[in-house]
Amino acid sequence: MTVATRFQSWNRGLEPGAPYDGASPNLQALATYCHARWKLKSLGIYNRRPVRGGTAWSSHAFGAAVDLGFGERHGGPGIAVLEADILPWLIQHSAELGIQRIHHYQRTRYWEAGRGWVEKSPGQGHDWIHVETTREAWADASSVRERLVESPQSPASATSAPTAPMYPGRPLKRSSTGASVKLIQARLGLTADGKFGPQTEAAVKSWQTNNGLQADGIVGPATWARLFGT
Ligand SMILES: [Zn+2]
Repeated sequence: MTVATRFQSWNRGLEPGAPYDGASPNLQALATYCHARWKLKSLGIYNRRPVRGGTAWSSHAFGAAVDLGFGERHGGPGIAVLEADILPWLIQHSAELGIQRIHHYQRTRYWEAGRGWVEKSPGQGHDWIHVETTREAWADASSVRERLVESPQSPASATSAPTAPMYPGRPLKRSSTGASVKLIQARLGLTADGKFGPQTEAAVKSWQTNNGLQADGIVGPATWARLFGT
């Protein structure tokens, strides 16, 4: 399972310019995908309001959370599909999707990056889930399909025209995880475990040096383009 970066609260006054004044493009892309695939209904992202019953800003005041209705009154797929298919998918891809927290009100539990499920009620039994973006992914406007790049082709199918994977929309560096990291590792001849650790960083630096790039160990757009010939 791929686990996202650590949870970092949106509503503890950490943001000097708080609140923001619009919806996260990352969550807009996620909502579009989830509606097309599962008929989840977006009940809103940006809402300039404090947390319920408190004075701190809600994550919605940063446009940093989307409420996705799964109940039938929203035309949604119902809780069975949510739990069997949607929640496992969101958690499995939480790193690529930039998800740090999911509130599952009807089961009185929430999921948090770096922690897993926490058996504590985040709310009032609503028939929607609340999905929070990480800061790193807040402005990522690339589509979900672009981010969930396929694994490298097996040798058996390598004769078909290879498709260069698209840059995932954010730099990959130490502690990044996910499918894009696997692609980099496979390209560098490393074990593709999807975890950007010290070995991967050293291999990236070495490759950058050999290819006339700044050896910072970070796979940004330029390094990505050179690695995959895009
Ligand atoms: Zn919410």
